[in-house]
Amino acid sequence: MFKCSRELGLAALVIGSNIWLYTDSCGRRFLIDSGLAFERAALRYHLWKAGVRRRGDLTALLLTHRHSDHAQNAAWVRREFDCPVLCHENDAAYLCGNMPVDPMPLGRGNFIDDTCARYENRFFVQMNVDDTFSSGPWKYDFVVVPVFGHTEGSVMLYHEKSRILFSGDAILAGIPPFRQIEQLSPARMEYSCDIKSCWCSTLEFVASAPPVLHLASGHGPYVGQDVMRKLGRFHIENSSRLFQVKDSIEK
Ligand SMILES: [Zn+2]
Repeated sequence: MFKCSRELGLAALVIGSNIWLYTDSCGRRFLIDSGLAFERAALRYHLWKAGVRRRGDLTALLLTHRHSDHAQNAAWVRREFDCPVLCHENDAAYLCGNMPVDPMPLGRGNFIDDTCARYENRFFVQMNVDDTFSSGPWKYDFVVVPVFGHTEGSVMLYHEKSRILFSGDAILAGIPPFRQIEQLSPARMEYSCDIKSCWCSTLEFVASAPPVLHLASGHGPYVGQDVMRKLGRFHIENSSRLFQVKDSIEK
């Protein structure tokens, strides 16, 4: 787990994806995403170090989306800390088993991509969620930004007061599994159910983005400097890529 800033809280340094612990100005503590099951011991250790030790210490676990590297410890966190687990209503239908999960196609990327897709297909998360959020302003100063298409209910969570963007897998701050090298990139096609839709909404948000001082992505390092300039560059670089994707999908 590495410290980001006093304001932001901290992130779990685990293998699969970032887990962010955010403490707001009222002392409420939110976990954003929950990592893979085999990272549970590391998650428990880092939470303990951060003072999250017993039932009631977490206000809520917010999931950016249902993929296993973000949601596999959610049921455990819910049990252990007696905190509600929330996600977008679209993803809740899949997590709760009301909608069948389409397997991720194989052969779209390299060997590692296929291995991860196989893992997801074998161990996709099924659990009850306690509540759902819809797109738009939500409680606790969060705004739910829909970026559907990575999963059916993938979202970014923007915290208005602290100007943190929890971008999940819609804006990656680095190429997994590397955490030290900063490189902003959009959702990976290999793991997304509708990449065009996800990229469109991500770029749309970035084009008219509210001030973002901190970027806390699902993968890669914490970005806390020059975030707006970097998001601007991200927009320029990926707008042209979006047209290429549109072309290749439409052909
Ligand atoms: Zn994902």
